[in-house]
Amino acid sequence: MYNSSAADSSSAGSRLFRYEVTGLRQNAETDRMDAPIRSSSSIFITVPYSRMNEEMRRITRMGGKIVRIEPVELGKASSVPPQPAPAAPAAAPAKAKAKHADVPVNIYRPNNPYIGKCLSNYELVREGGIGTVRHLTFDLSAGDLHYVEGQSIGIIPPGTDAQGKPHKLRLYSIASTRHGDNGDDKTVSLCVRQLEYKHPETGETVYGVCSTYLCNLEVGADVAITGPVGKEMLLPDDPNATVIMMATGTGIAPFRAYLWRMFKETHADYKFNGFAWLIFGIPFTANILYKDDLEAIAAQYPDHFQLTYAISREQQNATGGKMYIQDRVAEQADRLWELIQQEKTHTYICGLKGMEDGIDKALSEAAAKQGVTWSDYQKDLKRAGRWHVETY
Ligand SMILES: Cc1cc2nc3c(=O)[nH]c(=O)nc-3n(C[C@H](O)[C@H](O)[C@H](O)COP(=O)(O)OP(=O)(O)OC[C@H]3O[C@@H](n4cnc5c(N)ncnc54)[C@H](O)[C@@H]3O)c2cc1C
Repeated sequence: MYNSSAADSSSAGSRLFRYEVTGLRQNAETDRMDAPIRSSSSIFITVPYSRMNEEMRRITRMGGKIVRIEPVELGKASSVPPQPAPAAPAAAPAKAKAKHADVPVNIYRPNNPYIGKCLSNYELVREGGIGTVRHLTFDLSAGDLHYVEGQSIGIIPPGTDAQGKPHKLRLYSIASTRHGDNGDDKTVSLCVRQLEYKHPETGETVYGVCSTYLCNLEVGADVAITGPVGKEMLLPDDPNATVIMMATGTGIAPFRAYLWRMFKETHADYKFNGFAWLIFGIPFTANILYKDDLEAIAAQYPDHFQLTYAISREQQNATGGKMYIQDRVAEQADRLWELIQQEKTHTYICGLKGMEDGIDKALSEAAAKQGVTWSDYQKDLKRAGRWHVETY
C-alpha cells in the first residue's frame, strides 16, 4: 500500500531487533543469551531488520503477540551537572528572532512518506484517569528522518475519508529528544490522545481517525510518517536559559523532549545549567503523563527544575472553583512576570486551543502592576523569539 523504498536501506538491514513475544512457548529460536526476561510469559527473539516482516508473520501464525520491539544495542545513561538557578533581571525584549536555518524540515513529504515500524505503544493514563493517551515509538533506522526537540511529525492514517480520498496527515509533537528514547538517533516518539467526543446532533460517540489508528496501532505495524516540521517550539541553545513550560494534556509532548535533553541525557555540546519550570494542567492525578519521570527529575534537580500541577477535578482555585492552568499561572503571576522579563527566559505554551487567554489575563495583571501593557510586551517577546505557542 505504501511506497516502501525507504525501508530497504542496507545500513538498516544489518541492524538487529529484539522482539518481546507473549503467547509462544520457548523453543530453539528464542534468544536466551542476553535477553532480560521481563515476565514469565514473555520470550525474546532477536531478528535482523531484513527478516522483521517474515518473523512477525511467523509469530502471528504460531499464535504469539509481539508486545515490544527494541534495537539490540540500547541507549545512554542519564546525568546532568547540578548548579545554581536563574540570574538577574534584564530589560524588555530586544534581540531579533533566530532563523534556525540548520533545523531539518520536510525530509519526508506526504507523496513519499517514510515508513517506520511501531516499536512500542503503551498507555499513559492510569487507573482512575479519563481518556486514552498512548506513548508510541517508531523505528527510523531505514531512512534519513531526523529532527530536533520541539518539532512535529505528520502521520498519514491508512484508508480513505468520506469522499473516498486518502486521509490527510495529522501533526503530532515529537515527545523524544533528537536521540530518541533508545538513545541511538534511530527512533521518534509521540504522545497521542485518542480524540473522542459526542456528535453534537446525533449524540453518538465519535472517535478521531488518526488518533484512534495510532492508539490502537500494533507493535510491529508500519506507519507512514512525514516531516519533521516546525520551528516555533525550538529550545534555545543557551544552556543557562530559563525555560518556562505551560502544558495541558498531550501538550506535555515537546516538554518531555526538552526535559529529557536537559536532565536525562548527557551531551558533549549541551549541558543544561539554567532553570526549567513546568506548569502542567490535567483533570486527575491519574492523567499526569510521565508522572514518575517528571517527579524524579524534580527530586534530583530541585535547583534547576520546578514542577507545578493544576489538577482541575481534584484541586480548587482561590475562589473555590476548579484549578485550571490559568489559575496556577495567576497564583504565580508575579514570579513568572519577573522571570519573563529576563532576556534569557523563553516561555512555551502547548496543548489545548484556548489555554492562552487565561494565561494572558493572569500575566496582564502582573505586568500592569508595573505599568506595562502585557499585549504590547508579548508582541515584543514574540518578535524576539522568546514567546512560543503551539496549541491545537
Ligand atoms: C502542531 C500540532 C501538534 C499536535 N500534537 C499533538 C500531540 O502531541 N498529541 C495529540 O494527541 N494530538 C496532537 N495534535 C492534534 C492532532 O494533529 C489531531 O488533530 C488529533 O489527533 C485528532 O485527529 P484525528 O484524526 O484523531 O481526528 P479527526 O478524525 O480528524 O477528527 C477531528 C475533527 O473532529 C471534530 N471534533 C473534534 N472534537 C469535537 C467536539 N468536541 N465536538 C464536535 N466535533 C469535534 C472537528 O471537526 C475536528 O476537526 C497536534 C496538532 C498540531 C496542529
